[in-house]
Amino acid sequence: MSMTETSDRSRPLWTPGNRVSFASRMRRLKELLHECWDSHEDCNPGSTVLPTRLVEITAEGQDGFYLRLVDTDLLDSTKIRYSALSHCWGSASSGPSKTTQANLYLYRRRIPYSDLTQTIKDAVRVTSALDMRYLWVDSLCIIQGDAKDWETEATRMAGVFGGSDLTIVANASSDAHGGLFLDSVAPAVVVRGQADANVSDSWLLRWHPADLDVLKASVLRTRGWVFQELWLPRKKVFFEMDQFVWDCRHRLAAEDDSHHSPEGQRASPTDPNPSMAWQRVVGAYSQKNFSYRSDRLAALAGLTQWWSLECKQASFLGIWKETLARDLAWALTPEDGPGKDTIPPSKSAIPGVPSWSWFSWDCGVSFWSPKAGESTGLDLQLLDCDVRWRGEAMTSDILMTRLRVRGLLKSLELVHEVSEDESARLSVENYTTVECHITVDEFGSYILTHEDASRIETADCLLLSCSVGEKTAMSFMLVKRLAIVEGFQVCQRYGLELV
Ligand SMILES: [Zn+2]
Repeated sequence: MSMTETSDRSRPLWTPGNRVSFASRMRRLKELLHECWDSHEDCNPGSTVLPTRLVEITAEGQDGFYLRLVDTDLLDSTKIRYSALSHCWGSASSGPSKTTQANLYLYRRRIPYSDLTQTIKDAVRVTSALDMRYLWVDSLCIIQGDAKDWETEATRMAGVFGGSDLTIVANASSDAHGGLFLDSVAPAVVVRGQADANVSDSWLLRWHPADLDVLKASVLRTRGWVFQELWLPRKKVFFEMDQFVWDCRHRLAAEDDSHHSPEGQRASPTDPNPSMAWQRVVGAYSQKNFSYRSDRLAALAGLTQWWSLECKQASFLGIWKETLARDLAWALTPEDGPGKDTIPPSKSAIPGVPSWSWFSWDCGVSFWSPKAGESTGLDLQLLDCDVRWRGEAMTSDILMTRLRVRGLLKSLELVHEVSEDESARLSVENYTTVECHITVDEFGSYILTHEDASRIETADCLLLSCSVGEKTAMSFMLVKRLAIVEGFQVCQRYGLELV
C-alpha cells in the first residue's frame, strides 16, 4: 500500500475518480520520454542503423489503426523514431500475430488491426500516443518460417533494441494475448480520518505500489530471448498490471512515484573488471528458459556483438580471446530443487559446439574467479582459435571449431576422500598434496562415483591459470586425451579443478 496526502494530485495515478484514463497515463509517459530525449545524452546514441523492417502507423480510424509493414532502406534514419516491443510469445497456440511469406505481400499494403493479438495492439496504441510513427515487433518484422530471414535478422538485435527510441516491455503478460493493461488501472481512493488535529485528515491510497522485486520476477524475465532485449535498450518502459515503470540510464521511476531513483549500473565492457562483468552476464543468461534449446546461441548474438564492439575484442562461443584462461574456468551450476543431484543437465542441442565452450551444456554456469595474486606466467596461452559458420555468426550452423593453446598438461593423482562437497586432495608428482575442488560436467562420471575413502585416480589436467599471493591459486581443466593430430594433443574437456 502506498499513500499520499490529497494535496498531491499532479499525477494521474493519484487522481481519485472512476478510472485512470489511457490519455492521462500517456501524458505522464511522454513527460518521462521527453525528459530523457532532451536531457540524457547517453540515453540517446544519435546515429543508428534502422531495423530491416518496421510497422508503420499512419492513422487511427473507426476500425483501429492503419498499419503496414515497411522496408526501411529508403527511410532516413536520422528522422525516424521507433519503439520496439519485448514480449512473451506463449505457446504455439497462444503466439502473436506473424508475418509469413504467405501474407508478406498483403502486410506490405496493410496489416489488419483486427488481426493483431492484444499485446501488439496495445504496443501500437502506446507508440502512436507517444507520437512515434514506427514500431518494431519480432513476429511481424522478421518473416516467420523463413530460416534465412531469421538467421539474418537475429544477428541485428543489438541495433534493433540498442537503437530503439523506447522499448515497450509487456512485463505482466505470459503470452501474446495478455496486453499491456492500459485501461485497467484502478484510481487512488480517498480515505478520511482524524489522526492528528494538525495533519490533513484525508489521504489518497493505492493498494498496489510498484514492487521492483515483482517486476524482476515476471515470466518474461525467465525467457532466454528476452535477456538481451532488456539488456540492449537504453530506455524501457515496463507495463505491469497496476502501473508502468520507466527505466533509462538516468532514471528509474514508477508511475505512482513510489520509486524514484537513478538506475543502478548494469554490467558492461566499461566496468573496471570487464571480464568479471561478462561472467556475471553469462551466469544470468545461462539460467534462462528457452522454448527451443537450439536458440541458446542465437539469443545472445546481439548482446555478444554489442559487447564485442564496445570493448573491441573477439568472442568465440561465449569465450573472449583476451581473457581465455579465466573464461575457460566455468562450471555447471544446476538449479536447486528436487532431483538436482540425480537428473543430469542436458548437453547442448546445437550440433558442433565444442566441449570448452559453456554453450556445450544447456545449464546454468558460473565462473571461478581466483583472488588477485601475482601471475606466475604459467597461464594458458592462446595459439589460435577459429569458429566457422555456415552463414551468420551465432545464428547459423557451426561448420568447424578449433582452439589451439599452449600450456601445462600433466597427469596428476587425485586422492579422494569421502566428503559431501566433492573435495579431493591433489597430489602433484607424489610430492605435495593440496586441497582441491573438482567439478565434473557429466554427473555420474567416474571421478565422483567413488565409494572408497582415499582412493587414488589419475586425471589429465590442463593448467588454466596459476597465481601466487597469500595462497597459491590454480585452475585446471580436466581433459580426456584423444588423438594426436599435426603434433597437437587433441583433448576434450570434462570438468574443472580448483586449487
Ligand atoms: Zn534517459
